[in-house]
Amino acid sequence: MKIQMVDTLTQYQHIREEVDAAVMEVIKSGFYIGGPKVNSFKENLTQYLNANFVIPCANGTDALQVALMALNLEPGDEVITPAFTYFATAEVVALLRLNPVFVDVDPVTFNIDVKQIEAKITPRTKVILPVHLFGLPADMEPILQLAKKHQLAVVEDNAQAIGAEYRFSDGKVLKTGVMGDIGTTSFYPSKNLGAYGDGGAIFTQNDKLAHALLRICNHGVSSNRYLHEVIGVNSRLDAIQAAILDIKLRHLDLYNQNRIQAAAWYNECFKGIDGILTPSTPEGYKHVFHQYTLRLTGGRELRDAVKACMDQAGIPSMIYYPVPLHLQEAYAPYGYKAGDYPVSEQLSAEVISLPMHSELTKDQVHFVAEQFLQFYHQTVKA
Ligand SMILES: *Cc1c(COP(=O)(O)O)cnc(C)c1O
Repeated sequence: MKIQMVDTLTQYQHIREEVDAAVMEVIKSGFYIGGPKVNSFKENLTQYLNANFVIPCANGTDALQVALMALNLEPGDEVITPAFTYFATAEVVALLRLNPVFVDVDPVTFNIDVKQIEAKITPRTKVILPVHLFGLPADMEPILQLAKKHQLAVVEDNAQAIGAEYRFSDGKVLKTGVMGDIGTTSFYPSKNLGAYGDGGAIFTQNDKLAHALLRICNHGVSSNRYLHEVIGVNSRLDAIQAAILDIKLRHLDLYNQNRIQAAAWYNECFKGIDGILTPSTPEGYKHVFHQYTLRLTGGRELRDAVKACMDQAGIPSMIYYPVPLHLQEAYAPYGYKAGDYPVSEQLSAEVISLPMHSELTKDQVHFVAEQFLQFYHQTVKA
């Protein structure tokens, strides 16, 4: 059985006619940057998220960078972010000469451990940057309360969780990316809403921030094209990607539902197996399973051995993420050391992500799970 980690081609087959026509329309229109397709996607995404403003940009890393640039921070200001996430989250912090201050994550949700945030707040702290990792919302209510108490901005890295939802204690339900001051996302092809190239977007509810974000994305220009008010960047979503994304956005809830179903099938297969922890979705959260990630509590050696068997059998699996951010060589100048973030370090040794996408069938999930379990039991015995 041929199984892929992410199957964008099968997904494309279901929307091929629509996509092909839309791409040709862009090519024939002469509008390649900006124009009607970008505007249409922007409006539809604004509505989908229930946001006030959406600013499309070139990729998810730019989205984070522009978000931080819009907050008028000074070099040396501190940004609190989880130690267990994709590299880009803290990369933009460092690139802007801000200081990434890591916080350990929760061993069950893999998201920033809110109990540990306040101890990291100093007079230089300006931003909390939570990540909705693997498709599960971070615990936003206490994060927003802390931010309010200490007058900090909140930027949500929503690259992995578009369409996920979080319920507040008053019953209000919001989509990820629109709870903080600014939210960012990525349309990298393997993301839940993936383009056929690079893309990203920034969300906000605040009109002043929206103006600042838009201006930064376009070389610091505001109304007159050749008058530059601030230093910005060139970060735009191109029209072909916008046309594709506009079509895929209409299917996003179904794609996410298919992921949730696949995760439920996996969970069923791994239920009650000693040493395997399956992902769980806290009450009131909608998890959109960008990744389906297990923990093998037996540790790194066992995990790596099982992964090697999967590789040998030609069944895809991935380690997201093998090294937590504080131990990445690129962040060595910040002086973190092994032992600083024990949960992130433990997760790096124990996690393994299995194939997850919108096109998985029950047979495929069962096949992957059966093979995985066979390798797992084999390795545990050896
Ligand atoms: C993918 C991703 C990014 C970066 O997005 P790109 O579009 O690849 O630049 C940032 N943060 C997280 C958590 C991601 O998963």
